Amino acid sequence: MGGDHCFLAGGNSRLVQALCDGVPVLYEKTVKRIELGEDGVSISVEGDQVFKADMALCTVPLGVLKSRSIVFEPELPERKLGAIQRLGFGLLNKVAMVFPYVFWDEEIDTFGCLNKERSKRGEFFLFYSYHTVSGGAVLIALVAGEAALEFEKVDPAVALHKVLGILKGIYGPKGVTVPDPIQSSCTRWGSDPLCLGSYSHIRVGSSGADYDILAESVNDRLFFAGEATNSAYPATMHGALLSGLREASKILRASEGRVNSDQKKYALQKSLQPRNGVLEDLFMEPDLEFGRFSFVFSYITPDEQQTAGLARITLEKRLLLPSKNHNKKGDQKCQGPVAEVDQEVFHLYAIVSQEQANQLLMARDDDKGRVAFLCKDLGVKLMGYDSTWEVGSSLISSILNARKARRWFQRPKNLKI
Ligand SMILES: Cc1cc2nc3c(=O)[nH]c(=O)nc-3n(C[C@H](O)[C@H](O)[C@H](O)COP(=O)(O)OP(=O)(O)OC[C@H]3O[C@@H](n4cnc5c(N)ncnc54)[C@H](O)[C@@H]3O)c2cc1C
Repeated sequence: MGGDHCFLAGGNSRLVQALCDGVPVLYEKTVKRIELGEDGVSISVEGDQVFKADMALCTVPLGVLKSRSIVFEPELPERKLGAIQRLGFGLLNKVAMVFPYVFWDEEIDTFGCLNKERSKRGEFFLFYSYHTVSGGAVLIALVAGEAALEFEKVDPAVALHKVLGILKGIYGPKGVTVPDPIQSSCTRWGSDPLCLGSYSHIRVGSSGADYDILAESVNDRLFFAGEATNSAYPATMHGALLSGLREASKILRASEGRVNSDQKKYALQKSLQPRNGVLEDLFMEPDLEFGRFSFVFSYITPDEQQTAGLARITLEKRLLLPSKNHNKKGDQKCQGPVAEVDQEVFHLYAIVSQEQANQLLMARDDDKGRVAFLCKDLGVKLMGYDSTWEVGSSLISSILNARKARRWFQRPKNLKI
């Protein structure tokens, strides 16, 4: 994603506060049980209070899903449980310190320190200077990996002593005295029951596809968002934000579908949900087009080369029609000579990544050769309209949602923080 790396003045909570302006948020409600029924979702929180809704969005961290501290009734689908188990959820902790004055170089916003011992590689290896955005002489030390696990076991005073030792090791030789901090605070995300870690990563045995599985909704009633559901930007704030937008549009579509089906007084199966014109509409504004090929992708920003999309190939079918003068009262099988040739356009579809589409563009300059390259070299299967819906309905939803998210990002920005 483009843009500068930056610290938000006053802290990230200012962004969150701006986003939830006017949105009712209930705090101190720890979810214990999520029950999915035919006509809605029941959510039980600590203290036996129950909330009922048509749909629910679950954004708890992967660490909480792994711990099974929330009971899902019925149990989550096997493939989702597999992805939850396979993906890793790592640990990164912070020691935040307020000093009486800035003793470090004011020009820099980060600096690092390497440790010779392997198991201590993550111990206070990076320092963030927040003096320009926090209004005080604030330094934050990061501790990761094995060292972060150890960090949670020691007394915060001992940890602070270690951090100060490292700072003295850096600045002492430069003739700079490190003052004692006025205030300090240590995080313990690993032992916090509402986090149980910091953010996700692809562990050995897992893959990026597990993020997409985590993002799958259950019965169009229970939806999932959060950094661990975003394969393009996992482990980030913007990844979490984008996943929320993605799910908001999925929820809107699901509720619209439900209202429509209620109005029609009959229930449509998922695979038969209204779809007329959706593919046609998508391809009205293709993201890429050459020769007989057009493409639509589910990316939020164009640099996501691995993001899946749909290719459409436009072909003509030559129709052999009987002559108008042919005796229609005669044999309906029309054994007479073909008198007219007409042409009808039809489409074939394929699931491709943006990278494959670009390969196709570069590989050949004739459409026949491109079709051969697509099928033989890239091993892509061509499908008709109905199969595309059967196989690619969730991809089509993702493409629609990504388009909405792109429009959202292109809207005039008047968000005040
Ligand atoms: C030390 C550190 C540094 C980072 N630095 C950066 C950075 O520089 N840039 C960047 O983009 N990202 C950074 N990140 C990552 C970023 O903070 C996360 O990816 C992001 O906050 C994840 O958002 P989320 O909404 O998925 O999860 P969270 O922010 O963890 O939100 C989950 C929410 O669910 C709540 N919850 C949990 N269980 C329950 C329950 N049972 N009932 C009710 N509520 C529950 C929690 O209280 C929490 O509010 C950093 C993370 C850490 C730990």
